[in-house]
Amino acid sequence: MSQPQPEPVEAWSAADWRARAARLSPETRMFIDGAYRAAADGAVFPTINPATGTPLAEVARGSRADVDQAVAAARRAFRSGAWSRMAPRKRMEVMQRFAGLVEAHAGELALLDCLEMGKPVGGLIGFDIPCAVANLRFSAEAIDKIEGAVTSTAQDAFHFVVHEPLGVVGLIVPWNYPLMMACWKLGPALASGNSVVLKPAEQSSLSALRLARLFCDAGGPDGVLNVVTGFGEEVGKALALHADVDKIGFTGSGAVGGLIMEYAGRSNLKHVTLECGGKSPQVILADCDLDAAVRNAVIGSYANQGEVCAAGSRLLVEEAIHDAFVEKFTAQTQAMYAPGDPLDPATSMGPLVDGGHQRRVLDFIETGRREGAALAFGGEVPGHLGAGCYVEPTLFTQVDNAMTIAREEIFGPVTTVIAVRNVEHAIAVANDTDYGLAASIWTRDVRTAHRFARAVAAGMVWINTYFDYDAATPWGGFKRSGNGRDKCLEAFSQYTQTKSVWMNLS
Ligand code: NAD
Repeated sequence: MSQPQPEPVEAWSAADWRARAARLSPETRMFIDGAYRAAADGAVFPTINPATGTPLAEVARGSRADVDQAVAAARRAFRSGAWSRMAPRKRMEVMQRFAGLVEAHAGELALLDCLEMGKPVGGLIGFDIPCAVANLRFSAEAIDKIEGAVTSTAQDAFHFVVHEPLGVVGLIVPWNYPLMMACWKLGPALASGNSVVLKPAEQSSLSALRLARLFCDAGGPDGVLNVVTGFGEEVGKALALHADVDKIGFTGSGAVGGLIMEYAGRSNLKHVTLECGGKSPQVILADCDLDAAVRNAVIGSYANQGEVCAAGSRLLVEEAIHDAFVEKFTAQTQAMYAPGDPLDPATSMGPLVDGGHQRRVLDFIETGRREGAALAFGGEVPGHLGAGCYVEPTLFTQVDNAMTIAREEIFGPVTTVIAVRNVEHAIAVANDTDYGLAASIWTRDVRTAHRFARAVAAGMVWINTYFDYDAATPWGGFKRSGNGRDKCLEAFSQYTQTKSVWMNLS
């Protein structure tokens, strides 16, 4: 099977992207058992372009009946063994082709995510899609590298351990990196031989629907990857309560993560792994390379409109450099982030995902003002961008860690500066949070950096950098940030179960 060549998407201008957007006619039906089909009851819901406020498409609105059909198709496919018992190297070839097809369709997939949730195409082409492809390739390459074990037992027995796929896996993903989050989970879930029912967020269904077809085009058997679109309370809940689903891999808010655990308890004790939110600290000490720290702190705050689980939204700045930091941070933000048309590859900040989320973020800004934080810049809806759901990059200073804006995940372009006396104070403030997803420290002293890395309760710690990772490095949180790990080899253990086989030789 030959692999199509990637399109030269890096060279496309804003006019090219807009022309393609005007011609777009996306698939909006759900994907079950290798075919697109309407919802069982024919229901649809509108998906809106948040950059313009205009309707983009009517997407199939799934219900329990659709979930039942998707789970039944996934179970049939699993039992058939066409995928679950496929020779590892053959499964690897399919997964590699799947990764290649995602890469070859980068322009089309980027356009879908851009139009549906407002993410700038430049970021999609430069980051989301390559990251998704890398993760699929990493998972494919691992398929025949993960081995069982022969255990040390007495001579009259032979004991071995094998890792088997779980069966039918439900994957529930958020809207902030629609394609990338789906691929982070699809990689290990599919590579280890499971069948999958994927439920994208209702704000961003279209790229998931396209992905499912690409998997079949790559040689994935029908029924192995199904996509049911619709609302969390309807589709997500039915999936998580389903008695024939063996696992839910979830990425989203802590509130919904708690419900998923409850649904698992109420149904069949299915496995659950959660990747949830954060309120991550970026510690900036006086001895650091300040320009590098500022640049990374700005990216850590405003990349992807601040709609990032690991956004470094608490800047813990040593008092001695506080004023210089704020001055440089303000200038750097102005140079790097201005809200604009996400179809322009030069745009660094798009709209927020929808009007409801825009209002939520603006409410947090109002709360910050009311609770006594100082608004250093931003805080408004930019006037020149029409009906789009934009919010300016926003910085609060004079923030106390007890304030609402320092405790709750805002999930928008709003960040806070909290002055700290020294590294010990920074560690105490860094850990004074319900979350534990990521943390960073900027210092030239390697001993201080190590002390911080050991002391901070976070799943990912960055030293003199932010947001660095690749497909091999674990991604996940401590505390209310979740209990799973995406990417990395460890992710495979979350989609397999261990079987212990004891053979009597006496
Ligand atoms: P969300 O929790 O509202 O929704 C996530 C998914 O759950 C969606 O598909 C939604 O439809 C579904 N859902 C909603 N209610 C449900 C229910 N009752 N039962 C089953 N499913 C239900 O989150 P969101 O607003 O889509 O995404 C933002 C959140 O995701 C933030 O908290 C962010 O930090 C988190 N996130 C975490 C990571 C990570 O890797 N840790 C990555 C990206 C996003």
